[in-house]
Amino acid sequence: TKTYLTGIQTSGMPHLGNYYGAIQPALAAAESNDTLYFLADYHSLNSVKEPARLREDVRSVAATWLACGLDPERTVLYRQSGVPEVFELATVLASVTAKGLMNRAHAYKAARDRNEAAGSTELDAGINMGLFNYPILMAADILLMEADVVPVGRDQAQHIEYTADIARAFNHLYGDAYSFPVPEGAYPQGEGSVLPGVDGRKMSKSYDNHIPLFMAENRLKKLVRRIPTDSTPVEEPKDPGSSVPFQLLAYFADAERTDGVRKRLEAGGMGWGELKNELFETINDRFGPMRERYEQLVAPGSELDDILEAGAARARGRAAATMAKVRRAIGID
Ligand code: ATP
Repeated sequence: TKTYLTGIQTSGMPHLGNYYGAIQPALAAAESNDTLYFLADYHSLNSVKEPARLREDVRSVAATWLACGLDPERTVLYRQSGVPEVFELATVLASVTAKGLMNRAHAYKAARDRNEAAGSTELDAGINMGLFNYPILMAADILLMEADVVPVGRDQAQHIEYTADIARAFNHLYGDAYSFPVPEGAYPQGEGSVLPGVDGRKMSKSYDNHIPLFMAENRLKKLVRRIPTDSTPVEEPKDPGSSVPFQLLAYFADAERTDGVRKRLEAGGMGWGELKNELFETINDRFGPMRERYEQLVAPGSELDDILEAGAARARGRAAATMAKVRRAIGID
């Protein structure tokens, strides 16, 4: 069996797009692989400087994954901060990583490009070392657990290549004593896999067009009602394919319900209001029970903290084994 590892961003409650594009496939992968999923709290420290929010976000995201069905016996779920060996390994890896490689990292370059476009003379203005070092910390996350496969979005492909480069650089120097497995990325296949947001663009927190997974029922209802639609009257035929509420319905309703609604829209007689009710009910039926579980887990004093601690203990067991080999190989033992 292969070891799958993925870092979960802890910025705010996941939305329907995250569920469809990340959570659901990750839970499916956990059925037949050795899986480690970690909450990337130290990565988020680069952008989140409010302690209360950081703390809350980590709990909220962890509770979300558990409520969605992550089995903590099967999958090692842990906080990045719960495995301090990752920072030790990051220091080791920095010593075999060319600075030029980091200079070419997309996230760093994009931040410099933004400064340039804004007419700044100091291209590194506002860029912290955390952002610059991000790819090394990410390589440490992956290599520490000797992961084989890292399922991520396409935008992360460069970071996975960097991790492989860094692993090879280490292996080249120390391979007689210890070699990291060189990991590969696993990327979503096909184009049709991007869930639209309420404005029709890709659902994304950055676009503020997202539907949070466990939004309170009354707020969810209001949000769905506000999804823009055209002014075709109730009785006239409508084109389901170009309607955002219908597209969303098709992701979460079963085939029979989706087909029924499609036929009624095409025939005329079904208004957008009724379609939105269908959509609200579909989302609410599907995620309502998970929302209840989420609310239990996210409440102070729930078993969430114990689950994360148990996960960190398991992860640290693996981390300690890798670090013992690494330390011996580099001569710091
Ligand atoms: P941000 O705007 O902060 O970048 P986001 O809402 O776009 O956040 P990400 O954090 O970039 O979401 O993505 C996390 C995971 O969810 C990734 O694996 C990504 O592929 C998946 N994902 C995000 N949005 C969608 C979407 N609309 N449809 C399908 N998958 C998505």
